[in-house]
Amino acid sequence: MIETAEQTFQVINPATGLVVAEVPDHGPAKAREAVTAAVSAFASWRTTTAYHRATVLRRWNDLILEHVDELAHLISQEMGKPISEARGEVRYAASFVEWFAEEAKRVYGETISSQFSHKRLFVTKQPVGAVYAITPWNFPAAMITRKAAPAIAAGCSVVLKPAEQSPLTAMRLSELWRMADGPADVFQVLTTSDPAAFSEVFLSDSRIRKLSFTGSTDVGTLLYAKAASTMKRLSLELGGHAPFLVFEDADLDAAVTEICAAKFRNAGQTCVCVNRIYVQERVIEDFTARLSQAVRALKVGNPLEESTQIGPLVDANGLAKVREHVEDALAKGARIVTGGDAREGLYYTPTVLADVQPGMRILEEETFGPVAPIMRFSTDAEAIELANDVPYGLAAYLWTRDLSRAFRVAEMLEYGIIGLNDGLPSAAQAPFGGMKYSGLGREGGKWGLEEYLEVKYISAALRKE
Ligand code: NAP
Repeated sequence: MIETAEQTFQVINPATGLVVAEVPDHGPAKAREAVTAAVSAFASWRTTTAYHRATVLRRWNDLILEHVDELAHLISQEMGKPISEARGEVRYAASFVEWFAEEAKRVYGETISSQFSHKRLFVTKQPVGAVYAITPWNFPAAMITRKAAPAIAAGCSVVLKPAEQSPLTAMRLSELWRMADGPADVFQVLTTSDPAAFSEVFLSDSRIRKLSFTGSTDVGTLLYAKAASTMKRLSLELGGHAPFLVFEDADLDAAVTEICAAKFRNAGQTCVCVNRIYVQERVIEDFTARLSQAVRALKVGNPLEESTQIGPLVDANGLAKVREHVEDALAKGARIVTGGDAREGLYYTPTVLADVQPGMRILEEETFGPVAPIMRFSTDAEAIELANDVPYGLAAYLWTRDLSRAFRVAEMLEYGIIGLNDGLPSAAQAPFGGMKYSGLGREGGKWGLEEYLEVKYISAALRKE
């Protein structure tokens, strides 16, 4: 079929069910054009100085910050994030651009001693090449800058395919990139309703040297296999199933406050959202009562209203999964302490479940919704075993005032990110990523830049005297 510029797909506001916009529905032909453009853009972008790339990134950062409200509205409209939280996401997204603008100038090489007096050994770093990036809908701005900023800082070009539910923020970010005098082909954003066919072009083309993917473990596993045929560098930021351990010596009020942020932000739809709460038996009743009281007070509503804390789920499938997890838990003996009902549209009331037991789906699959299941444990060893008993290893949280326990438990948790009395550990300068089925590589900080750099070793033999 011949592609025409008129082919589009609709973006739906999950809070209202109304069409927000229609965006271009690109297919393989456009993908092939984009590969050629990205490869050609890489050839010149890699020759620019780090100081030049830093200047352009810095301008992009400033423009993103000048457009916080506009971008936050787009986020809120296309995927239902409460507006105050969406503003926070835009600032968080800009923080990656700022960090990597600075870090672009700090890509260092090394010299190594040789065992031969006439040899000089050097290690340099250079950009990996043209990059294909795929992002999910739950952070329409931050997942993009967390990939694009380090890639661009390193001297790579990027073609980015945003999620179908949230293309508008990505498209606006690419306009701001061009307003910052960023070359259009260094950062291309292309939308499609057929991600598999569109992505196949990039995956099978050996000129694309890196795949960076954030999304589900199922799709990540598939792409891992596909990228093998062209031996691409890979970054995979996949699903999580975060445990939150509350020990009997913890500050319970602080733990409740942080769980409300770490569990219920974005209506529970983040990869680092708390999925399982384990509480030491002596404080479980007290903790459950305090958490339920806080959860009942969360304001559910129109995400564009300033006071809203919980918006809708992103789509009907998302809502169905939340309902199924709660029904499965209830059928197997769990008890609703608060919430537990779907409301009009795609909303689900913030919920606390007690008496949760192994074997329930909610303990095994990402719920991606506003449901907090509580379980008990007695010893530190049991808490660690329960926390590690999932295939995922992205983020884990623990709450204790005992320093020795804090270090011992943190060291035994098989997770890439540990929140120690901290429900929101993510920061642009820190490594973000997971172990086990939560992915490969790290984004953020100096580790995020290394993902876009190749190590090159040069051995120079001097003329013998
Ligand atoms: P998803 O279904 O895996 O989709 C993610 C992206 O992959 C979307 O752009 C999607 O396009 C695309 N995609 C789907 N099938 C594809 C295929 N066969 N080939 C190429 N691309 C394909 O995940 P999601 O539901 O959007 O996002 C939620 C998941 O992301 C959760 O598991 C969450 O934990 C994870 N996540 C992880 C991190 C992290 O940093 N570790 C951060 C955020 C989210 P379409 O939109 O067109 O389907």
